[in-house]
Amino acid sequence: MDKALLGGNVLTMNEGAPRVEAVGFEKGKIVAAGATAEVSKMVGSDTQVVHLAGRTVIPGFVDPHNHFSFTTFQPVSVDCSVPPHVSINGVLDAIGAAAKSAPPGQWIWGWGFNARAMEGHRRITRKQLDEVAPDNPVTIEDSSVHAAYANTAALRLAGIDRNTPDPDHGQILRDDNGEPDGTLWEEALNSVYNLSLRAHLEQYGDYAVDLVRQNCQRYMAAGITSVGDALVLPEAAEMYRQADTLGKLPFRMHQMLGGDGFFSAPSRVASGDTGDGNVSDRLRGGTMKIFMDPVFPSPALIQEHPHGDHEHIGARYYTQEEADIIVLAAHRRGLQVAIHCLGTWSIEQALNAFEAALKAHPASEPRFRIEHYSLPTLEQIRRTASMGVVSVMQPAFVYTGAVRGQERAEELGGGALVFPFKTMLAEGVIVAASSDFPCAPLEPLTGIYAVVTRKTRLGEGPIVPDEAVTPLEALKMYTLNAAYAMNREHEVGSIETGKRADLAVLSHDPTSVDPDFIREISVEQTYVDGELLHNR
Ligand SMILES: [Zn+2]
Repeated sequence: MDKALLGGNVLTMNEGAPRVEAVGFEKGKIVAAGATAEVSKMVGSDTQVVHLAGRTVIPGFVDPHNHFSFTTFQPVSVDCSVPPHVSINGVLDAIGAAAKSAPPGQWIWGWGFNARAMEGHRRITRKQLDEVAPDNPVTIEDSSVHAAYANTAALRLAGIDRNTPDPDHGQILRDDNGEPDGTLWEEALNSVYNLSLRAHLEQYGDYAVDLVRQNCQRYMAAGITSVGDALVLPEAAEMYRQADTLGKLPFRMHQMLGGDGFFSAPSRVASGDTGDGNVSDRLRGGTMKIFMDPVFPSPALIQEHPHGDHEHIGARYYTQEEADIIVLAAHRRGLQVAIHCLGTWSIEQALNAFEAALKAHPASEPRFRIEHYSLPTLEQIRRTASMGVVSVMQPAFVYTGAVRGQERAEELGGGALVFPFKTMLAEGVIVAASSDFPCAPLEPLTGIYAVVTRKTRLGEGPIVPDEAVTPLEALKMYTLNAAYAMNREHEVGSIETGKRADLAVLSHDPTSVDPDFIREISVEQTYVDGELLHNR
């Protein structure tokens, strides 16, 4: 045995032995999990012994839906987050400072801006960006990643001007003169995302994989040891491949593939014209992701009609028929299909497409996924459970306040429930939790706090307290269930012999502290394949 962790409080997520005291590793795998007295017997002269002194150990967190590739370049980009920024001027100053120190023509990327958090939902305009950065293409990514704000130089490189029509699934917002005002919604932002990523990869060259490694460190500091990137652009896939080849990818990365642009139809992936993303044991793929409903222009997840009545629909990415064709093609190809659905209407359409695909091409365990799953009805929850569809949800959306209250849902009618974690578990749905970082905080312990207390960042709430779950249920959603969503549950997600030695050591036990304290718990150590890679 290479290493033994003794005298701890180990929450295994293994139903056969849910709580043990000690864990032993050898060659990156768990070879013992049990009482300290038992595991101690296997300690040899070469074994490195760690005395946990009662500290809590959990399986490394698995984050099956986040945007790792989008956040890789954050350290060399402009932080436009709200807060700390409170005004548009503050954001413009930060962009202006970056432009002054950059050579003309170098692409400037800002991240974290949230127009909805600004007074009057104010957006940054093309003209404002031109004033502070006249000689550089600038793009600011909205924290939702479904909107971007661009200056004239960036729009020009993207080929967007007053004559460019809106794409099918997006909008180029325009000023009173009909000129693009800088805001790009949904599919309209595809080209600026691709161009910016390409520009950064060119500019940083070999250093890009070091940035990947740095980003992994940030994830491991949060206790995360397996990651699913929820939409890997072709440029990012190449970056991951290089990082993996050069040994800069210390943990497991799961690639979800789409089209050539972030919001494009994934027709080529579905039909088999492009690879499935399976590169190595560490860097895998096999999942196709599509969007069913947008965030913009209806951030409330519903459409408000002029006379004040509401409906659970938004603009749609695909008709039922189109969705059926894409899903079936990918399913036939053997890909797992993951569909982004916020509203009730889109969940319905996704379930219909899954059902049709299974009818045409039966499979014993297709593991279809619905991402977000924000406003389902009870009937849909039951359908989801009976089809074995995995729902990949974001407890931290409760934390950021993105989840509307039950009153709002009732006002809409239609029986939609608001992030109904408890009901879903009770009905037998496999619920996996994820961060969706950078759309919400990365730290799983923040999400666990939110899903247990149903409180926001500011301590407001509880929001629909009946849907709270226990800390242990929340831990399982962030470990074993999340591993299941990524087809990795045989390797990771629980502490039992034969699995990878991926663990996190916590300062406190989330199942026994005051729930309000859960977000204060720190991740003291993170082990991946038995190696200590984060040590606070
Ligand atoms: Zn996402």
